[in-house]
Amino acid sequence: MAKVKFKFKRDKYRKARGGYSKFLDIYCSNCKQYLLLYQKDGPGPLKRLYFDRIFAPKYLADLQNLNSIKEIKRLECHRCQQFIGMPIIYQKENRKSFHLEQGAFIKKVGKGVYPPENASL
Ligand SMILES: [Zn+2]
Repeated sequence: MAKVKFKFKRDKYRKARGGYSKFLDIYCSNCKQYLLLYQKDGPGPLKRLYFDRIFAPKYLADLQNLNSIKEIKRLECHRCQQFIGMPIIYQKENRKSFHLEQGAFIKKVGKGVYPPENASL
C-alpha cells in the first residue's frame, strides 16, 4: 500500500485549543496492535477521539460522515477485541467522538503517515 502523508486540519476546533496540533499513532495497550492515526489539538491528556480527527484507517475516518452515532459500535481492538472507547457526542461542541477508556491504548507522537512504520509495537 502506498504511504499517505496527512496534513493537519486547521479549523475552529484547533483554534479553540491554541492553534497547534500533533499526530498520534494509537495502539492497543493489550496486544500492541496499531489502531488508528489521529490529530490531537492543543495541550492536555487524550480523553476523546473526535471522529473528524481520525485520518485512517478509512472505515474509522468515514465515521465522521454519519449523521447519528446510534449506529456506531464501541471501538475495540480489531485483533484482541479489547474495549477502547464508547461513541458519544461531546455536547460542548456537538461533536461526535469516542470517549476513551484510559489504560486501553498507547499513544505515540507520529508524522501523520499511514500505514505506519510499525503495525505493532
Ligand atoms: Zn489488542
